[in-house]
Amino acid sequence: MRQFWHVTDLHLDPTYHITDDRTKVCASSKGSNASNPGPFGDVMCDSPYHLILSAFDFIKHSGQEASFMIWTGDSPPHVPVHELSTDTVITVIANMTTTVQSLFPDLQVFPALGNHDYWPQDQLPSFTSKVYNAVANLWKPWLDEEAIQTLRKGGFYSQKVSTNQNLRIISLNTNLYYGPDIVTLNRSDPANQFEWLEHTLNISQQNKEKVYIIAHIPVGYLPYSMHTTAMREFYNEKLVDIFRRYSKIIAGQFYGHTHRDSIMILSDKKGNPINSVFVAPAVTPVKGALQKQTNYPGLRLFQYDPLDYELLDMLQYYLNLTDANLKGESNWKLEYILTQTYDIEDLQPKSLYELAKEFATPDSKKFIKYYNYFFVSYDSSEVCDEKCKAFQICAIVALDHNSYEDCLKQYYYIRHSL
Ligand SMILES: [Zn+2]
Ligand SMILES: [Zn+2]
Repeated sequence: MRQFWHVTDLHLDPTYHITDDRTKVCASSKGSNASNPGPFGDVMCDSPYHLILSAFDFIKHSGQEASFMIWTGDSPPHVPVHELSTDTVITVIANMTTTVQSLFPDLQVFPALGNHDYWPQDQLPSFTSKVYNAVANLWKPWLDEEAIQTLRKGGFYSQKVSTNQNLRIISLNTNLYYGPDIVTLNRSDPANQFEWLEHTLNISQQNKEKVYIIAHIPVGYLPYSMHTTAMREFYNEKLVDIFRRYSKIIAGQFYGHTHRDSIMILSDKKGNPINSVFVAPAVTPVKGALQKQTNYPGLRLFQYDPLDYELLDMLQYYLNLTDANLKGESNWKLEYILTQTYDIEDLQPKSLYELAKEFATPDSKKFIKYYNYFFVSYDSSEVCDEKCKAFQICAIVALDHNSYEDCLKQYYYIRHSL
């Protein structure tokens, strides 16, 4: 058994500081009162550096051996566009990169760009840019020359894992497919990434490699709203189609961006489960002024078979922020072990699909657990009603338009005659 870490959505807020005026604790609260600020942060704010350092420090001293780390983007804070610039965005990414490089000098890290890793946010271009060039330089210690070249051109790359010679990481720039990105509007293949992806998967297949897909914006549907894909629907359909055709060599998919903990299972057109997909919760605990829910800071460790790279298990860790601030120390803890908490064999698509079917049964205790973990144990009193549950279930089992509509029919419309 071997392991790798997954961290995502650090969202450093360099302005975070403790002060009596609660509207001035952090720029990311955008003038709202911080709720209960302490050394490790506040739910109205993005991460203080102290919180991010505590996360990496926990990883370093966890006693867990890892072969590599994946890091799926979004380093800058959620602040109005005019409060940042290309230079400040690059400075934040550089700060995070050197933090990781100095704490883990011997660990290979595979980053992916997030929609906040650009200025103006979300507007990642389909051609070279100052940010792509900057990250290509920063991430050189982890990547080879070919990876650096495509990173410079379009913000994506593929790279073999140095300690696992038949395992390839494909880091996609799915921000090019994100709804708010006006630079890529009406383009069928921004930065020719689809063409490159198919070509890369094809060569991997010929070389009998296995592939882990990593990216910031996930495929599939958002679990908390109806009929909404995380990226533009057109691109989602294209990506799902490619993943279906190469599902035999794709041993896992890993994303961030939603800040929540969720799983998805990609099925083929006949409905057979063929790929396991994992969305990791954020390190930042931030929520909007009108939101009731958020997530406690989270990070995770995956276990895999070193022979065929199949996923065996996942350990989710979290920080109880309220507790940590109260005690003045960061007690990162294990939240759950995926196979144990749900009593399943492994993380294979079939195992997860059976689990999703159990979730869907009325009053499923396992689903109640899943919904609590969705918010990284932030508020276990939150109840998911029938409508909420239908969106959750369909986001888990349906990644394309047709199967999503079918799912909603099966789990919701029939019972509610809509
Ligand atoms: Zn984010
Ligand atoms: Zn994001």
